[in-house]
Order: sequence, then structure tokens, then C-alpha cells
Amino acid sequence: MKDVETIISPRWIIPAEPSTEVLEHHALVIDAGCIAAIMPVNDVRQHYHARRWIERPAHVLIPGLINAHTHAAMTLLRGIADDLPLMDWLTHHIWPLEQKWVSETFVRDGTDLAIAEMLRGGTTTFNDMYFFPEITAQRALQHGMRAVIGLIVIDFPSAYADSAAAYIDQAVTLYESLRDSPLLHFAFAPHAPYSVSDTPLQRIRALADELDLPIHMHVHETRAEVQQASQQFGQRPLQRLADLGLISPGFIAVHMTQLTDEEIAFYAERGGHIVHCPESNMKLASGACPVARCLKAGINVALGTDGVASNNDLDLFGEMRTAALFGKYLAEDASALSAPTVLRMATLNGARALGIAEVTGSLVPGKSADVVAVDLSAVETQPLYDPLSALVYCASRQHVSDVWIAGKPLLSERRLTTFDETALLQKAALWQERLVGFAKRG
Ligand SMILES: [Zn+2]
Repeated sequence: MKDVETIISPRWIIPAEPSTEVLEHHALVIDAGCIAAIMPVNDVRQHYHARRWIERPAHVLIPGLINAHTHAAMTLLRGIADDLPLMDWLTHHIWPLEQKWVSETFVRDGTDLAIAEMLRGGTTTFNDMYFFPEITAQRALQHGMRAVIGLIVIDFPSAYADSAAAYIDQAVTLYESLRDSPLLHFAFAPHAPYSVSDTPLQRIRALADELDLPIHMHVHETRAEVQQASQQFGQRPLQRLADLGLISPGFIAVHMTQLTDEEIAFYAERGGHIVHCPESNMKLASGACPVARCLKAGINVALGTDGVASNNDLDLFGEMRTAALFGKYLAEDASALSAPTVLRMATLNGARALGIAEVTGSLVPGKSADVVAVDLSAVETQPLYDPLSALVYCASRQHVSDVWIAGKPLLSERRLTTFDETALLQKAALWQERLVGFAKRG
């Protein structure tokens, strides 16, 4: 008998790797923060003795969900400017608000609120892009959340840095100070082709190669972005980025709603990743990423919510369902973006895009125990013929009962273990009082 930390015994397990098959009456063994084994529960009883044995008899265990594109601190801007198209929303509402309000405190309070929301919804990793990334990193560590910290770079000044070169200097300093934290991972995060010029992009490319970091960027979000760039530079943004040497297996393009067949083939051949954010794209009427065609071409497509200001939540259950339905609608094919495909987009594909598939993204021995239990016994999920169908098409984030990251319970029977929820809500109320006068509707 081997002594281990924790054993979770659910009704079903969907490991997501090597396949999305559903295992029944298996248990998941956790030791030293990692998955030690997944085997039939009777075999587990014979081989292991756990200091904590957790029964979840009506639940399915899945890999922790990966939100592959967020701006966590923007959670404080939830619902502040709705029903507006992207450039109007960004230039007349979000950017002026950010100029006035973004500070270390804003990022701290917004990120705390985001992490609490994500944990309650079964998300265990988020890939962020925002000002003061050192604060985002600090809050993730504080709450035991896994994060890919986006080392933001943008041409214009903010409270965080006054030039693209200064953003890059701060990025390198931050990466070097926290690179050994097991819960933190890093990516360069130049905002978008229209907001970062060639010189900083060239420097980022060289540094990304040197430090072996991915590059996370908004690309081809709207038709207007592509048209404007074509007029300004005489080429589409993706081509410009390719000419700068950025498109590689380390490149994470968010949105990609404007893609020709040639661009899909080219991007697949270069091994770049896409993060699909269907709800943000639909809400801002930005366009639609042709996900079914991208997947068919062999592109790895992950899933993200984008920031709460354009979603308006951090709910990957909602995003999975939207991705599945929108993907089928767009492809005019009911078999496109099936339930297994969409679950993989929200788990393993996210880990692959972020370069952390060795650590998380599936329930496989040796990986970190980033695990979520979803209660499928509620009225809304009955009768239940197929747990995977229930997860994607029917369950919601309210059915998430428990979340473990690196084996540590962060949500326990729907209770957050690293938060004072009263204090969290008080801080959100304070920001609401400060910002309420800026709320606008298109
Ligand atoms: Zn975004």
C-alpha cells in the first residue's frame, strides 16, 4: 500500500487525453500535487492509502478548464459599456476609462474578482494580458491559481509604462523575477498589430526566441482592422507579422475572425495557435472565426472568454456551449465542433497553445492535479445518458462543486478556500461607486 495525499472517487472521469472517453467508477490519485494514477476504484483501494479520501458519487471529474485569453482586471468594467462596436467601444469608452482609473489597486481588485469567478466556474488556468502584470502574477500566487502572465507591450503610454521600450524592459525584469514559480508561466503580449509598431515587435521576437516564451496577440479581430492595415501598410496584418518572423508554433493569435483559405493553410503550416473567443466576437459584432475549417486544416484552436468588458463573464461552460452552437451554425454542419472537440478546446488545446501541455490540460499521471468536479445530479441535467453531452450542452458553471490546482482544494463544495468573499464583494461595490457615472450604452 502506498501512502498518498488525496484520492477522489467520482462517478465518472473524462481525462481528455489520450481521448475524451468517459471512465466510470474510476478514482484519481493525487500525490505531491500531481496526478499519480487513474484506475478502477477497486484497484485504487488495493494499492493506495489516502490521507484524504473524497467521495463525489454523482460527479464527473474533468481537467481544469483553461481560459486562453483574458484581461482579468477588466472584470471591474463588467457591463460598463454595452451594445457598441469594437472601435467605438475601445476608443470612446474602455481606453479613456483605463487612462483615468487603471492603477496597481485597480488591477489587484479586478484580478481578485476575476480569479474568484473563474475558480467558481471550474477554470484553473488563465492566459492574461493587462497592465501591471506583476500584480496579476502576485494575485494568482496569493490564491493558488495557475496563470500565464502576459508581458504586455503597446505603443502608447499608460500608468504602467511610458513607451514600448519601457514595457519591454519591465517585461523582462518581471519574467526574470518570477520565472521559477511553479504556478506561473509567461508569454510576451504585444496588444495588436494596430497598436504595436515594427521596432518593438522585432525586439519581442528576438527576446521570445532567446527566453523561449510564446507570443500572445489579438490578430484579425475585425474586418475594419484588416482593411485599415491593408491601406496603411499595403498588406494584411497576418502577412506583416509573418514578414516580421512572428508566426511560429510559439505564436498565439486571438480572434482571427478574418481569414482567407490561403491564410488558414499558411497558419496551419507554420504551426501557430488560435484562441477563439466567440462570445466577445458576437457581442462586439466583430466577426466569426471559421473554427471548423481551422481545425480541419490542423490548427490547434483553444477557447477564451476575452475580458469581462466584452463578454460579460469569465464562464468557460457558457463559452464551450456558444462555441459548439456558433461553430455548427457557421459551418452549416451539425457534426462540426462536437462536444468532445469543444471540451478539448477548453482544456488540452489551451494547454498546447500556451506551451504548458506538459503540466496541465488533461488528467494524465505526472501532470499537475488541476482537476474540476461537476455535480451532474441536479434537475437540469436529468435524465443523463452521456456525461460529456451533459457537460457541454446542458450543465453550467453553477454545477461545479470542487476545484483543485496542483492538488490543493481551492473550491470545496462551492466554497472558495483562499478568499474572504465578504471583503471581495465590498471591494467590487467600492469600484462600482467610483465608476458608475461612466456607464454608457450604445
Ligand atoms: Zn482581448
